[in-house]
Amino acid sequence: MKPASFVYVRPGSRSEIVAALAEHGADGKVLAGGQSLVAAMNFRLARPGVIIDINRAGDLDYLRPSGDVLAIGALTRHAAFHKPPVEGPLGALLAKVVRHIAHYPIRQRGTFTGSLAHADPASEWCLVAATLGAEMVIANNNGERTCPAAEFFRGTFTTAVGEQDLLAEVRLPMLGAGWRSGFHEFSRRAGDFALAMSLAALKLENGVITAARLGVGGVSDRAIRLSKLEQELVGKPPSKALFQDVAASAQAGIRPTADIHGSSEYRSDLIRAVVGRALTEAAA
Ligand SMILES: Cc1cc2nc3c(=O)[nH]c(=O)nc-3n(C[C@H](O)[C@H](O)[C@H](O)COP(=O)(O)OP(=O)(O)OC[C@H]3O[C@@H](n4cnc5c(N)ncnc54)[C@H](O)[C@@H]3O)c2cc1C
Repeated sequence: MKPASFVYVRPGSRSEIVAALAEHGADGKVLAGGQSLVAAMNFRLARPGVIIDINRAGDLDYLRPSGDVLAIGALTRHAAFHKPPVEGPLGALLAKVVRHIAHYPIRQRGTFTGSLAHADPASEWCLVAATLGAEMVIANNNGERTCPAAEFFRGTFTTAVGEQDLLAEVRLPMLGAGWRSGFHEFSRRAGDFALAMSLAALKLENGVITAARLGVGGVSDRAIRLSKLEQELVGKPPSKALFQDVAASAQAGIRPTADIHGSSEYRSDLIRAVVGRALTEAAA
């Protein structure tokens, strides 16, 4: 299949991009890595009138540690995380997760923010953003606003990014000393989207969990942060029994979606398995 005809524009900077988005309104569509959009256009699932290619906007290509956050510009490719982009637990976590995203050539083009703007429920970066409580910077011709992850993801392929908006930057909290992470994903083949996955980050001090982040992805219309279960972990020493209890509670609290790849019951079992393994890895 070939895409329907479209007009192609290639702004050279963030300000030119938001001006183009304002000019073309509902007809305009941002092209980042193209790894999801071009396939949708070829299948005619998407028929944008104007493609706004952001790949020449050098001012959006950055990974910037800034105080207690890592700022990720809109042109940062998945491949930028093949090696830890910053020292410490956050860098290690990102480098661990990226290996599960698609395949090497796709990771050279696809972008971190493109994954978030696309909001596939089985996106690894969406799980990272939801679980760690990322902050999104959304820009348009009138200025910019920030949006917490809890309000950003609205459902399958739906976010707080409006028709004239650019997701310009994502800010991830820099996990400090004492934090460690675990990630576990189940997919049918390496590089496939996850049937279920879990991210756990634990802060351990003197053998006790003093803070926790826990999330599940691939089982619902969006990644789910399990805030109540995070609280159940805090104040306790890590143990197999604790993690089994929390994993069972995660399973009990989520009614997963079903599709041709797996029934709701199957995914429900997977939730228990991936949460338990992510927690165990984080504590190891
Ligand atoms: C074979 C295959 C396997 C894959 N497997 C996985 C996987 O396992 N896990 C995974 O997470 N992904 C997977 N992907 C998707 C891949 O990660 C994409 O790179 C990602 O979903 C979208 O990023 P992109 O930069 O390519 O965005 P594009 O395809 O360019 O855009 C996607 C959508 O987001 C919008 N958009 C992009 N950037 C912005 C922005 N800055 N502001 C506003 N809107 C924007 C576009 O308008 C479009 O609607 C796979 C893709 C393929 C082809």
